[in-house]
Amino acid sequence: MRAVIMSRVGDVSVLEEREVDYPRLEAGDVLIKVRGCGLCYRDTLARRGYMRAKIPVIPGHEVSGEIVEVGDNVLGLSRGDLVSSLIYVYDPRSSECREDSENICRGNMWIGEDLDGCYAEYIKLPYWILDKIGDPGETRPEAYSFAACVIGTIIRALKTLGEAKRGEYVLVTGASGGVGIHAVQVAKSLGLKVIAVTRSEEKAKLIKGYGVDEVIVYRDKFSEDVRKITDGRGPDIVVETVGGPTLDQSLRAVSRGGRVLVIGNVDPKPQQVMLGLIILKEIRVLGVLNSTHRELREAIRLLREGLIKPVYKTIPLDVNYIREAHQILESGGAFGRFIITP
Ligand SMILES: [Zn+2]
Repeated sequence: MRAVIMSRVGDVSVLEEREVDYPRLEAGDVLIKVRGCGLCYRDTLARRGYMRAKIPVIPGHEVSGEIVEVGDNVLGLSRGDLVSSLIYVYDPRSSECREDSENICRGNMWIGEDLDGCYAEYIKLPYWILDKIGDPGETRPEAYSFAACVIGTIIRALKTLGEAKRGEYVLVTGASGGVGIHAVQVAKSLGLKVIAVTRSEEKAKLIKGYGVDEVIVYRDKFSEDVRKITDGRGPDIVVETVGGPTLDQSLRAVSRGGRVLVIGNVDPKPQQVMLGLIILKEIRVLGVLNSTHRELREAIRLLREGLIKPVYKTIPLDVNYIREAHQILESGGAFGRFIITP
């Protein structure tokens, strides 16, 4: 089958197109014909050597597709089922691995890093990390590829960890990015008032089409503008999709007793944080590591019922397109997600 592999770490030239063997199923595995493989900023971090990926590896962890072969001891799934996947393999028999926190179990294996991923025509995955899509509704099957990594993660941030309540103000940083533009929509679906920040006038216009209440275009700082919109109080919640470069402004903007949900970080270097802000405003800074089955199932439902309009551009399984998409992701130039449709 055709695949794009990463045989060393480095710039985009380390991504190479190859003909490789079909994956061999073990007990519990299914073979999936990839319908969609989302491209994630995390892929660029792995490519640059920050995620300790086993090399060589087929990258890509955001998968949706159709089951074409079922291995031994597979429960509840059959050929022809459309499925969407968690982005890691947990051990369901481990006593430490609890429901609703399977994302943080010790020993989790990450798809596209520890295990071969979806920059390929087919992928094998264990059945217990998959959820059925059922009737995809008006949403195309490839869009379910990022149900777990994007929409599920935002649900975990806002609902599970952030305990967002109707009518609260939420600030979304990096609002035009693959995560941000969907964070805006999930927040609206939960009845929150959304303030989006972006650095581009052009993208601000696009963001306005997704139901956001206010958009701020900024150069270096946005906390003052955000506070003005909220009568000086600051938003109750920040969904931080950028990380290092915006965290200081987010801590300054957020209300007293507010929550800062750190979903993503574009800069793997250590960051300086004003601890005084966290103490004096009693801010809760919460890390969010992707999603669990519960959130994936809810993400699938939001897509199926058309409550989230997925924002993405499809590209072929072609190394030139994939290299270019990696470059666009690294430069912060993407609007929505790129999805490989082999
Ligand atoms: Zn991802």
